[in-house]
Amino acid sequence: MSAAGGPRLLLRRLREIMAEQTSAQMRLDKLVSTIASNMVAEVCSIYLRRAGKVLELFATEGLRPEAVHATRLKEGEGLVGMVSETAEAVNLSDAPADPHFSYRPETGEDPFKSFLGVPIVRGGQVFGVLTVQNKAERIYAEEEVEALQTVAMVLAEVVAQSGFFNVAELDEPELRIDRPRKFVGDGLSDGVAVGRVALHEPRVKVERMIADNPLDELKRLEAAIGGLRESVDQMLASSELDLTGEGREVIEAYRLFAYDQGWRQRMRDAVRTGLTAEAAVERVQDETRLRVQRMGDPILRERAHDFDDLARRLLRHLTGEEVADRSLPANAVLVARGMGPAELLDYGRDKLVALVLEEAAATSHVAIVARSMGLPMVASLEGIADNARGGDAIAVDGEMGEVHLRPASEIIKAFEEKRALRVQTQARFAAVRDLPAVTRDGVAIRLMMNAGLEFDMPQLDQSGADGIGLFRTELQFMIGETMPRLTDQAAFYKKILDAAGDKPVVFRTLDLGGDKVLPYARWEREENPALGWRAIRIALDRPALLRYQVRALLRASAGRTLRILLPMVSDVDEFNRARALIDRELERARLLNLARPTQVLVGAMLEVPALAFMLPQLMRSADFVSIGSNDLLSLAFAVDRTNPRVSKRYDNLNPASLTLIRLIVQSAAENSGDLSLCGEMAGRPLDAMALLGLGLRTLSMQPGQIGPIKMMIRSMHLGEISAFVDRLCGRTDHSLRTRLAAFAAERGIVLK
Ligand code: PEP
Ligand code: MG
Repeated sequence: MSAAGGPRLLLRRLREIMAEQTSAQMRLDKLVSTIASNMVAEVCSIYLRRAGKVLELFATEGLRPEAVHATRLKEGEGLVGMVSETAEAVNLSDAPADPHFSYRPETGEDPFKSFLGVPIVRGGQVFGVLTVQNKAERIYAEEEVEALQTVAMVLAEVVAQSGFFNVAELDEPELRIDRPRKFVGDGLSDGVAVGRVALHEPRVKVERMIADNPLDELKRLEAAIGGLRESVDQMLASSELDLTGEGREVIEAYRLFAYDQGWRQRMRDAVRTGLTAEAAVERVQDETRLRVQRMGDPILRERAHDFDDLARRLLRHLTGEEVADRSLPANAVLVARGMGPAELLDYGRDKLVALVLEEAAATSHVAIVARSMGLPMVASLEGIADNARGGDAIAVDGEMGEVHLRPASEIIKAFEEKRALRVQTQARFAAVRDLPAVTRDGVAIRLMMNAGLEFDMPQLDQSGADGIGLFRTELQFMIGETMPRLTDQAAFYKKILDAAGDKPVVFRTLDLGGDKVLPYARWEREENPALGWRAIRIALDRPALLRYQVRALLRASAGRTLRILLPMVSDVDEFNRARALIDRELERARLLNLARPTQVLVGAMLEVPALAFMLPQLMRSADFVSIGSNDLLSLAFAVDRTNPRVSKRYDNLNPASLTLIRLIVQSAAENSGDLSLCGEMAGRPLDAMALLGLGLRTLSMQPGQIGPIKMMIRSMHLGEISAFVDRLCGRTDHSLRTRLAAFAAERGIVLK
């Protein structure tokens, strides 16, 4: 069987059917009979997705008419369900023999042996499945699969735009592209916002799907690919960018993709089936994205972003649209697949009210920058960038990780109320700003804030923090395009110290590696970056980096106390070697008679579990120790904190975490050590309550959390909590959260 008249004729007929004034069902019926006759198939059916991921037979030629709207399959059920789940074509010569086949007597499909099903996909979403079947046992030819995929794509577009049939008539709100949608992901920065979508990389609108003249479309495609390649070549040759190291490698890999013959061929094939060049680019991109998404390999996902970017550029070459405009409307909520910290800073704070990303982990730098900008942020929202359109209404809750796209007016109202409530709560926190953080039984707690950018400094006064317990210096290195020079570093640190006034600032030396890489440095990809060449390990292997940073810090803190914190220390010897480097710099400054601090205190971060057993020895060399609970617990539980698949598998409030922290606190106390904790736990009221119960007296957290934590402290009785937490360490619960929350509720401890 070769497609009678070929796909182009089929597309032309499709266009005619679309233009007819008739009911939705009639159009679908006509469509299946047209496809069946064009493809010489005995059966052609359309299954569309209903709420709850159910696929319903909407129209058929060849199966029993009574099965229409009666036959329903769950995702993954039967061959049709498999097509929908995998978003890939299924082509079988003997379908009933396949283990996935699910026999539905009402359809009367017994005599049909061969089966071809393709997904109806748009913008990374599967809307339904289109199938053809024949009695004879055969495998459908590649051109036939292509032809059916092309029809499915056009069908997806018309379903989505509701121009083909009235979706309301089908009583199926799930299929509407403009329907309200709720996404739930990870809240990475607190706050509530209501605004309008601004797409970081706007979707290029494809107006024409079906080609008038395929030869012309092929020429347009070739010209656009030529233009794209030229612009990527230019990018690489541009002396202005002056790329080195990894930056250059990234662009070179990108250039290879632009020259990828497979990609070009797939787009050419799609044009040959009768699509316009733009529609062909989109179709190939949709397929690539879905395939990669389903593979779930992070490296391939990154590659898919490159292809996404190339496809967008190609579409701009075809449509003549200008490069994305970076200016924002008022109350903009930025929506994107991914974003770097520098890109976010580029947008500025004026008009931005929230950030919504498909991919980003809590500890990614864009998240840290968003928090420091006070921008609510939600991530891990698959498909939102494709679903959102510029100008759509959107409501974001950064605490719950909820995003409502095109929300109903009641939701907007509820969000406005939530926002007003937050303002009230903030006012309550502001009221305790100048009150001491003292428990009901009179124990004073030191509350410090974490920082990393100049943005953060006004928060020191606003939050009432006692100082900066963790200044992440690497952020300054990551947002720039080049390595900051010694004088720039020194000027930056001085600004921070000046802004802090009398309050102490603990500068953590560069904590690079893991998920933090410099855009301009050569970096070898590691199998296991969380356990790889990071932080102090880099500093000891490349001492110049640490020495220059220390030199800048010494210069900046002339006449004051300098506090340096070393990240990811694994053993005491490592600490001592780094401390020796610092001492050498201090000695150099003394010999050269340079301005220098009155005192230098050097501390270690306790993030590697092994170090917990070395505190007596460590305390002899270190002036202070700060527990980095983010890394400490992820390493203790063998969980990659940046991998969303496993990062929520353990709870910080597991008895093992508390026991480990108790051991550290006791060991530090026995050795008269100065101990604090600066991981995210410190800023969560319930977690912090447990930490204080374990004996910690200094916590460093995001500035926005100082108010809530202080209120919690002022409402608690430390003696009672210590006794309770001590008992909890002996339990076997996966999480002690419920028990702690019940305890807090009973005693009237304020957790909000
Ligand atoms: C930590 O690991 O707890 C920590 C504070 O360091 P970072 O989050 O920067 O790795
Ligand atoms: Mg850490």
